[in-house]
Order: sequence, then structure tokens, then C-alpha cells
Amino acid sequence: LSSKIESAVQTLKGQSRITDVNIAETVREIRRALLDADVNLDVAREFTNNIKEKVMGSGVLTSVNPGQQFTKIVYDEMVQILGETRSDIAVANTPPTVILIAGLQGSGKTTFSGKLARYLKTENNRNPILAAADVYRPAAINQLKTLADDIGVPVYSIEQKDPVRVAREAVSMAKSLALDTVIIDTAGRMHVDEQMMNEVAEIKKAVNPHEILFVVDAMTGQDAVNTAKAFNETIDFDGVVLTKMDGDTRGGAALSIRSVVEKPIKFMSTGEKLDALSPFYPDRLAQRILGMGDVVSLVEKAQKEFDEQQAEKLQKKIKSDKFDLNDFYEQIQKIKKMGNVADLVGMIPGADKALQDADFDEDSFKPIEAIISSMTPEEREDPSLLNGSRRRRISKGSGTTVREINELMKQFDQMKKMMKTMSKMNKAGRAMQGLK
Ligand code: GDP
Ligand code: MG
Repeated sequence: LSSKIESAVQTLKGQSRITDVNIAETVREIRRALLDADVNLDVAREFTNNIKEKVMGSGVLTSVNPGQQFTKIVYDEMVQILGETRSDIAVANTPPTVILIAGLQGSGKTTFSGKLARYLKTENNRNPILAAADVYRPAAINQLKTLADDIGVPVYSIEQKDPVRVAREAVSMAKSLALDTVIIDTAGRMHVDEQMMNEVAEIKKAVNPHEILFVVDAMTGQDAVNTAKAFNETIDFDGVVLTKMDGDTRGGAALSIRSVVEKPIKFMSTGEKLDALSPFYPDRLAQRILGMGDVVSLVEKAQKEFDEQQAEKLQKKIKSDKFDLNDFYEQIQKIKKMGNVADLVGMIPGADKALQDADFDEDSFKPIEAIISSMTPEEREDPSLLNGSRRRRISKGSGTTVREINELMKQFDQMKKMMKTMSKMNKAGRAMQGLK
């Protein structure tokens, strides 16, 4: 038994654990990182609360690699919220399929309309027509025509400033030309306003689109959520397109939008060129929002600080001869919490084979725990109080023999001496124990 305890305690030193305290700290840091990535405050709060619960209930504290596990929980949760990969666009039973593109001015609707036409043409073998329903600025119509020329797709536009008519006639045109898809590019405003909403709602009513996509500039950050909400309330869109993801935004807006409007993100736009469009991949965005490296280092930092504090504290006690049975008991609890002792021993570089093969199990600690539990706090602090009659009392209370108690006390003394010797070791030796 004695060598088992010695090696277990040695194993423990320098073992890294995460505690409730630094979980709370790390979660706070993660929340800050989310806010930096433009995630809405309520969404960030709910997200981190979920994380905290999951981390607490997951055994991360006792796992071999708490940092990695912690990070995995955060990442998995985010991927789950962001939703699955979806770039599917509804297909009408009777062509043409009508797709309505909506969003604020400058969000990237016209560019996306062109990209989507190209995507459907090249990836899905479709024959689209673009409808220029942004009728107010001649430049907007020309922009769409230029894009359409590049990809060899027709554009429908008229002189009159009547977006509903453009949309309706583009659908008729598609039918007569046997084109299977109509993409309607609409006019946006700088901010959500009633006129814009009415207009897009009217177009919706007139052509009854099979798919409505809401286009949002990922760089607009916090505002994106309110815009998405307003559009969703008016036109009940089917999916979200995130544009300008080639900028230096982390893309946290996506997480907020997804949480608030609960509509799938379908595409990501990553540049001004027509081929800069990709289906939405939640895992990639999660990595980007979290700045994966950042989170890992956050967790590792918290863990390291804690380890050093603990090791220093223990070291101080050993040096000043204050390592008592309370500390000993605490160490045993920690070892047990860490799970399989044999596995742990196996992880120590250089631990010899015999030690690795030794039969460690939780039961070996039971008599020791029972004995220490039956002691008074004073006895635990000062084992020299343990005279014969006290030992007999403890023996009765713990269901062990006095001999077992004597043996434990002898081992404890030996261990203390050994630890004190170790604590006097040179710097290299201390480094091996996980101390600075
Ligand atoms: P609309 O007003 O919603 O139609 O927006 P536009 O399609 O005209 O785009 C506004 C500006 O953003 C244009 O200068 C586009 O070239 C640019 N843009 C659109 N999408 C992207 C993108 O994914 N990345 C970058 N960097 N610029 C984009
Ligand atoms: Mg436009």
C-alpha cells in the first residue's frame, strides 16, 4: 500500500486540473470573446450559460485533457446552434422556381443575385433569369446587367419604376422562354423602413416565391440582428446569406441571427468576384467566431495558473512541515476524481514498468479514507496527538485494525520526509514536479 500512495501523490503533483473557479473565469473570457466577435449580448449570455452547465456536468474537471475537452464542448455547442450545412434552394414542382432576394442597401443583394445565378447554372445545371426589381437607380440595373453578361444569363428589366410589375413579368418571361429559375433582385434602403418593407412584401404577394433569401453584411455586427428580425417579421424568409465574410469580421452576427430568427444560414459570400460564394459550413464559422486558437489558449492559461498556485501552496506546506492528514486526504480525493490511477501513472514519462502495471484501484484508498474520516480535525492537523487510546477509538470508528492505523501513520511520516527532501531539490527537480 505504501508505495502505491507515494507514487499516487507524486503523480498528482504537476497534474493539471480545472476547477469551478477557473471554469467561471474562462466562461467569462469566452463571453467577452463572443462580444468581440459581434455576437449579440443576450445570445452570448445564453450561450455561455449553456456551456457552463455542460462543462460542469461533463466530467471535464476530472478528464485527462480538460482544456481540450472544454474547448470541444464550446465548439460543438456553437456548431449545433449554427445549424447544419444547407445550400439547398427550393425547387418548384411547376417551373419556374422563383427566388426573392431581400436585404438592406449595400448588403450585397445584387452581387449575390449574380453569384447565385452563376452557382445554379454551373453547379445545378439550371437556366436562370435575373429580374431587376431595384427600379429606382439606373446604376443598379446596369450593375445587374454587367454581372449577367459575365455569366451569360438574361436580365429582365423595364423602363417603368414598378418593382411588382418587373417581378411578375420576369416570371412570365421565364415561362415563355422555358427558363427554370427567376432570381428577383430588389431595392434596399440604408435602414429598415416601412416603404422598403411594403415593397418587398408586395413583390412576395405578387409572385409567391418558392424561396426568399435574406442577405446581410456580416460586417454590420450588432445591427444585423435587428435587421434580420424586421425582415423576418415582414416576409418570413427561408434562409440567410452572409456577405463580406472576406473582411476581418469574425462573423458573430451569424450566431446572433441564427439564434434570434431561427432560420438556416445557406450561403456565405467571400468577395466581390462572381465565384466568391460558398455553401455555409457551420464548423468553419464556429472556428472563426471562437478564434479556436484563442479559446484553447484561454483555457490552457487558466489551467496553468491554477496548477501553479496549487503546486506552490502544497510546496509551502511541505517545506514548513505543515503537510497534514487533511492535505493527505484532499490529495486522495483528487486522485480519485482524476479517475483511473493506473492510467495516470502510465502517463508519467519515465514511470517504470512495474509501477505502470501495479494494480491501483479506488478500493486501495478505502481503509485510509475511513481512518482519516474517523479522526478529529485536531488529530488530522497534528498526528502526534494520536496516542494508543485515540488509535483504538479511530480503529472502532473506521472498522480497521490498530495495526492498519499504525502502518498508515508510519507511511505518512515517511512520505512527509520524502516530500520534504524532494522540495529541497534543485530547480530542475522542481520543474519536473510542475513548478516554475
Ligand atoms: P446591394 O445594394 O445589396 O445590391 O449590394 P451590392 O451587391 O451592390 O454590393 C454592395 C458593395 O459590396 C459592392 O461594392 C459589392 O462589390 C460589395 N460586395 C458584395 N458582396 C461582397 C463580398 O462578399 N465581399 C466583399 N468584399 N464585397 C462585397
Ligand atoms: Mg443592388
